Amino acid sequence: MENINQNIRNFVIIAHIDHGKSTLADRFLEITKTIAPNKLQPQYLDRLNLEREHGITIKMHPVQMLYEYPQIQNSKVKNSDSKYILNLIDTPGHVDFTYEVSRSLAAVEGAILLVDGTQGIQAQTLSNLHLAQQQKLIIIGAINKIDLNISDIEQQKQDLANLLKINVSDIVLVSAKTGQNAESLLEQVVLKIPPPQFHRELPLRALVFDSIYDDYQGVIAFVRIREGKISKGDKILLMAKHQIGEVRGVGYFAPQLVEKESLSSGEIGWIATGLKDPRLVRVGDTITHYDGVTVTPLAGYKEPEPMVFASFYLSKTEQDFDKLKMALEKLKLTDSAIQFTPENSPILGRGYRLGFLGMLHLKITQERLEKNNDLDLIVTTPTVPYRVWVRGNKQPFIVTNPTSWPVEDTILKIEEPWTKVEIVTPAEYLSNIIQLINHLRGRDVVSLNFEDRLIINCHLPLEETIKNFYDQLKSISQGYASMNYTLEQYRPVALKKLEVLLVGKVYPSLSRLVTEQNMYKEAQTLAYRLKQLIPQQNYSVPIQIKGEGRILARETISARRKDVTAHLYGGDRSRKMKLWQKQKKGKKRLREQANLKLPSHIFLKLFSEH
Ligand code: GDP
Ligand code: MG
Repeated sequence: MENINQNIRNFVIIAHIDHGKSTLADRFLEITKTIAPNKLQPQYLDRLNLEREHGITIKMHPVQMLYEYPQIQNSKVKNSDSKYILNLIDTPGHVDFTYEVSRSLAAVEGAILLVDGTQGIQAQTLSNLHLAQQQKLIIIGAINKIDLNISDIEQQKQDLANLLKINVSDIVLVSAKTGQNAESLLEQVVLKIPPPQFHRELPLRALVFDSIYDDYQGVIAFVRIREGKISKGDKILLMAKHQIGEVRGVGYFAPQLVEKESLSSGEIGWIATGLKDPRLVRVGDTITHYDGVTVTPLAGYKEPEPMVFASFYLSKTEQDFDKLKMALEKLKLTDSAIQFTPENSPILGRGYRLGFLGMLHLKITQERLEKNNDLDLIVTTPTVPYRVWVRGNKQPFIVTNPTSWPVEDTILKIEEPWTKVEIVTPAEYLSNIIQLINHLRGRDVVSLNFEDRLIINCHLPLEETIKNFYDQLKSISQGYASMNYTLEQYRPVALKKLEVLLVGKVYPSLSRLVTEQNMYKEAQTLAYRLKQLIPQQNYSVPIQIKGEGRILARETISARRKDVTAHLYGGDRSRKMKLWQKQKKGKKRLREQANLKLPSHIFLKLFSEH
């Protein structure tokens, strides 16, 4: 079986979200009989419950399929053997998970670029294509959902062919739902995507593109073997952290893990590393043999960098803090991109400050923690990391939490992260979109025609990109515009910290950082929202928003009126007066002693308005 690698195809499916990747993967599983039809649930590779609920793919799930190439066309294939091993990696489509996409692309030779024919090419179609082209992958273009009535199908084909610089006749029309043409797409994979190059004689180099944690086996690395061969019992070295392990087993994805004797150059599979600490097995790392032979690590390693930070607290104090702690530690085993440190708030108690790749990543993490562990969480207003230079320090602080904002008059300079945003939209929304970009502090707007639509490029502060831009873009374009962003450099910004005082007392968890130019407006909005959200008490509650050392906005929630005189029938005025006086005094005392307990839904409402 020396030429086994000639019969391997490693590929991914890339697309904008909801264009049908997972559904197409289902058809491939069916055609190749990898999964018995009665076991196939829709979007089979989206195994996490949460993925099913959101209908999105968060983590890629590799799968190996055995495919017998149809005999009739066999003459086109150089190799006489018509049995193929197809390794498919399904990729996530959301911007937060671009890093995962780029990792999977580094492990394959080719990609199917899938476009929903009812939607056309979208922003993430483009961004994924850029990534694939950077990896020099062979790309097969396919239009999906042809079971639906697509009026401009010829135009769609032309657009995609132009984008890929290939002939229109090479575009495959497919329905992932009905399976129409799904098999011809697989044939294209065999025909067009080259087999992996193999160098079994060279020292081992395996690229880690993902990992999972298993209670018994420890960390299991998902790898693409670039060169060499690896078997059970081998001593290995993980190059990034110089960790030594002993291989407990190797194998392939069916998609469940199936053990085999060895993995060699060109193959995609898993290695049970025997390591117990998931932080030691980094995605993008290179695994080699620990045998004194030096090799150069494979290129492309990048540490996932959290760009959105928020605090998680338990909404009810009687909930178990240790449960949250354990849940987070467990989650970290499956999601190495999450960062967390313990934190204490006088009002909300013990909690954690967490770092995420983006907003969706945050929401998914919150849901995972809550659903799987029966927890109810308060999540504070998300912030991006700021670089702050203060007097007396050469190096900037990275501030990821308004509560650790330096004293304002020591601050010399502040910088915030910016993004490069790419938008694909029907032309009619151009002026609205430009307005939105300007409103959100955007710059350098450039638009160019793209078939019957526009591509708009601009720069926006990350803060605006993640909190406001996406939702507002969707609403002003009735859902037709799509966007994608990449991080860029940091740029200067003037920021002020707003503090919330309720009944004269500061509530640090409600603090937020705002731009100087929006300071008053933000202060007023915040005061107004708090007034609406906080329930009436038996005493009046003054709300004050402080910034730059003064009160910028105020509101008052009047006391709940209880008719203390209701039981007095008739007109005993003096008796009533006495009771009212007593009530007034009582309220003053109440207010003085007040330790306003805010119900958790207030935080939830306030913080979810982003
Ligand atoms: P992904 O986000 O790219 O993985 O997309 P999914 O595979 O989850 O599909 C998104 C939605 O489109 C689901 O509701 C699918 O049922 C639907 N879908 C996918 N392919 C087709 C197709 O060929 N025809 C039709 N009508 N619907 C499809
Ligand atoms: Mg999917």
